[in-house]
Amino acid sequence: MKKIFYIETFGCQMNEYDSEKISGMLENLDYNRTKNINNANLIIYNTCLIRENAENKLYGKLGALKKLKMEKDDLILAVGGCIPQNEEIRNYILDKYPFIDIIFGTNTFYKLPEMINKHMNNSHEILVELEKNSSNLNENLPTVRKYEHKAFVNIMYGCNNFCSYCVVPHTRGRERSRNSKEILNEVENLASQGFKEITLLGQNVNSYGNDLDGDYRFTQLLEDIEKINEIERIRYVSSHPKDVGDEFIDFLGRSKKVCNHMHLPIQAGSSKVLKEMNRKYTKEDYIQIIKKLRNSVPNISISTDFIVGFPGESEEDFEETLSLCREVEFDAAFTFIYSVRPNTPAGKRIDQINDEVKHKRFNRLLETLYPIFYERNLAYKDKVVKVLVDKISKNKDEYLTGRSRSNRIVHFKGNSNLIGKIVNVRINKVKTWFLKGVLTEEEAYE
Ligand code: SAM
Ligand code: SF4
Repeated sequence: MKKIFYIETFGCQMNEYDSEKISGMLENLDYNRTKNINNANLIIYNTCLIRENAENKLYGKLGALKKLKMEKDDLILAVGGCIPQNEEIRNYILDKYPFIDIIFGTNTFYKLPEMINKHMNNSHEILVELEKNSSNLNENLPTVRKYEHKAFVNIMYGCNNFCSYCVVPHTRGRERSRNSKEILNEVENLASQGFKEITLLGQNVNSYGNDLDGDYRFTQLLEDIEKINEIERIRYVSSHPKDVGDEFIDFLGRSKKVCNHMHLPIQAGSSKVLKEMNRKYTKEDYIQIIKKLRNSVPNISISTDFIVGFPGESEEDFEETLSLCREVEFDAAFTFIYSVRPNTPAGKRIDQINDEVKHKRFNRLLETLYPIFYERNLAYKDKVVKVLVDKISKNKDEYLTGRSRSNRIVHFKGNSNLIGKIVNVRINKVKTWFLKGVLTEEEAYE
């Protein structure tokens, strides 16, 4: 029997990286990956619970699969990741979609090969494997990386923050930092294979090490990674404002390899809402951090996350969010409409904002942000930037696409043999979401 798998990932970079590991394990078992779901005899959905629409998307896909499952005897259907971690939703799925064969969680995908095997020997039973706070059991798995020049590296799992709207601490469990030697070994290994850029992943990377003995923390980890010769760019995501300290900010100013981009989610511009979100910082604290960051790294680019329509958010609260956008001048942002999540304090509040108000505020937020992004990009017009080339552009074959150090998407004409290289590009066109330019030998501004 030909072994062909199809995998679809919902949600954050953490899930994307988990899917790279799942794919690596399956390829080790002689499975080939297909992009056409109809060709597969193993279909995996790696799921996300962060907002209701991610959940609904999965239900739509599962409903549509029933027919395929009935037509194909040998089809194995697996649902994994964050959604099955919630007992109530897991039971709903088991009840509504009884044709699913395998259910695994965020800490148990390393068991997938064993579960597939078991299923093949007894295909009548639905197999469920879940663990909540297990430590690092998904370590050292073979990984199929999306790119050959840049890679994700997990530095910690889980989250301790319990923001009042968020399911992550419930689905991914408490914070567990990986041993620094293991992280450094992994990065050295990637460097020796030719990887140039790494992105350190965690829900709150600036609290790396708080759960470990000793005083080795995130800044030391960055310093040690910076010493690995072949690594040219270091990125990290996400940072929580409450854990961004002066030592880290000073290091950013000295660092040659940590990119001048920070993703620092604010969520809302009203200190009252931030308190109710349990974010543990005020609007003023956030602005102070931005000032320090810009003092230390003058051309740092700041991206953020916003939630619009948190329970009890008044018109004045929302206007504070808009005025904060103008004050901080963000370079980019992910914007979300608040979504009620199971077992969260905010989800239980009776002062939920109605959908129409939420959508109107959401649109007003975008109308405020987009001109700011464009203005921030305009600063790059006629400047030369270093670009790590990712791929051939989606829309135009003769164009390549890469990222500047400040994480801007840059398109330019070039040959595909430049993929994976760092090249200099002179920017001649600026849009809200990307920059366009031409290859040049001139010295780069950043
Ligand atoms: N740990 C990261 C942090 O706190 O910065 C964020 C991780 S979460 C996967 C990404 C974003 O999803 C959050 O920053 C927040 O803006 C958004 N989010 C989380 N829960 C949400 C909810 N219930 N409704 C809408 N957006 C939500
Ligand atoms: Fe969710 Fe807050 Fe943890 Fe981020 S820090 S994952 S928003 S609980």
